Amino acid sequence: MAIAIHPSVDGGVKPGKAGFAGGTLRCKCASKPVEIKVAAQTAHNHVCGCTKCWKPAGATFSMVAVVSRDKVSVAANGDKLKILDASAAIQRHVCSGCGTHMYGRIENKGHPFHGLDFIHTELSAEDGWSAPEFAAFVSSVIESGTKPDQMSAIRARLKSLGLEPYDALSPPLMDAIATHVAKAKGVLK
Ligand SMILES: [Zn+2]
Ligand SMILES: [Zn+2]
Repeated sequence: MAIAIHPSVDGGVKPGKAGFAGGTLRCKCASKPVEIKVAAQTAHNHVCGCTKCWKPAGATFSMVAVVSRDKVSVAANGDKLKILDASAAIQRHVCSGCGTHMYGRIENKGHPFHGLDFIHTELSAEDGWSAPEFAAFVSSVIESGTKPDQMSAIRARLKSLGLEPYDALSPPLMDAIATHVAKAKGVLK
């Protein structure tokens, strides 16, 4: 049986389009869907195995990218949005009708990723968003019910898709976080 990573990559990773400048994310509600306008291409798209990111039914991983928060705006039915957990570092703005996570925002100005919103570009009908580049928090899928003995097959499948599996974020992003922390502490000038 083929391993379902995420519907957006199970048939192969689609490359992004040069010059792509954004689109509209829509929740799953049949009527009055929440619409979020994203006025830029995304960056650092990846599949994520953590238990916090929203994923569609049947998927083992979520797919999540970042975009500058000033490029994200509510276009329709924003009254349906609520914050899932206001105490979380990433505040996930969720449709109260269907449960879809529309964007995740960091309000702590000291956070390494402050200024970036986390979005799921599969919620958009437009083609051309930046392609997923790696797989983050792979071991965490066990926490959502994946059997540990499936992990080597999952990692092999991710590699065959060109999505290098990591058990944290990718090394460049982990380095960016550590650099932020080192500068905040004065260790690095
Ligand atoms: Zn909805
Ligand atoms: Zn995640």
